[in-house]
Amino acid sequence: NLTQRVDIPRHGEIGELAHAFNSMAETLSRNESLRQTMVSDIAHELRTPLTNIRGYLEGIQDGVLEPDREIIDLVYEEAIWLNRIITDLQELVLAEAGQLRFIFQEIHVDDIIESAVAMYQPRARNRQITLTSDLPYKLPYVYADPKRTGQVIRNLLSNAVKYTPPGGKITVTAAAHLNHIEVRVSDTGNGISEEHIPFIFERFYRVDPSRSRDTGGAGLGLAIVKQLVEAQGGQIRLHSEVGKGTTFVFSVPIYRREHEPVTLDADDI
Ligand code: ADP
Repeated sequence: NLTQRVDIPRHGEIGELAHAFNSMAETLSRNESLRQTMVSDIAHELRTPLTNIRGYLEGIQDGVLEPDREIIDLVYEEAIWLNRIITDLQELVLAEAGQLRFIFQEIHVDDIIESAVAMYQPRARNRQITLTSDLPYKLPYVYADPKRTGQVIRNLLSNAVKYTPPGGKITVTAAAHLNHIEVRVSDTGNGISEEHIPFIFERFYRVDPSRSRDTGGAGLGLAIVKQLVEAQGGQIRLHSEVGKGTTFVFSVPIYRREHEPVTLDADDI
């Protein structure tokens, strides 16, 4: 059994070997328990919509429910929900294994922000939320995958819209730093209390699991976002205050052409 500890002397070569072996065993057993937790989380997430579908179908079989339009729509919604969980899971597993394909290019992050904001404008308006972007003139290029970067911003906007009550505000800003651009998505929503913040990027983590179905999330969105940001060389963090709102901040490395000579202005010399 590879996950068992070995008790041998702590000193000398055998001691070192034993130490290496024990730390390998610890990693293996940690991975094993992570794997078990993940499998049971997945089983739980998939079982809920399946149980609902089964309930509707059994109701129809028993003659308790009419197979009318309403029931068909409900069953259909559950199937869509199942599909979404599976698609998200596939993406997360690939991202965690480092197997998602990224097409890195020099891109203007402002164009990507503007189109994500335009895409969420109708949804925000429907909920009487003001969604704006405030971008500085001429941001430097970043080196990133435009589709994946768009996916990160859309995911954060989708959460901001979901967790901000009517009358609220969502703002997207960007700022250039020495070697990265920082993008901020701020909302004046419910906020996240301190005890939940350390777990917020974990898969299937939801602050209020009972509410997730009306707002439509399985708790995978932020886990995917974190993977996508980090795979592109960036970082993500958040500030939040209950009742005031939340700001997610992520960074994207600035593109620098290699071997390009630096030209100094006359004033710099
Ligand atoms: P979900 O699919 O449930 O939205 P996410 O991984 O995207 O899953 O988010 C995890 C949890 O973090 C959410 O269930 C919600 O409780 C909390 N959360 C995420 N974004 C916000 C936000 N902008 N404001 C308040 N809570 C948020």
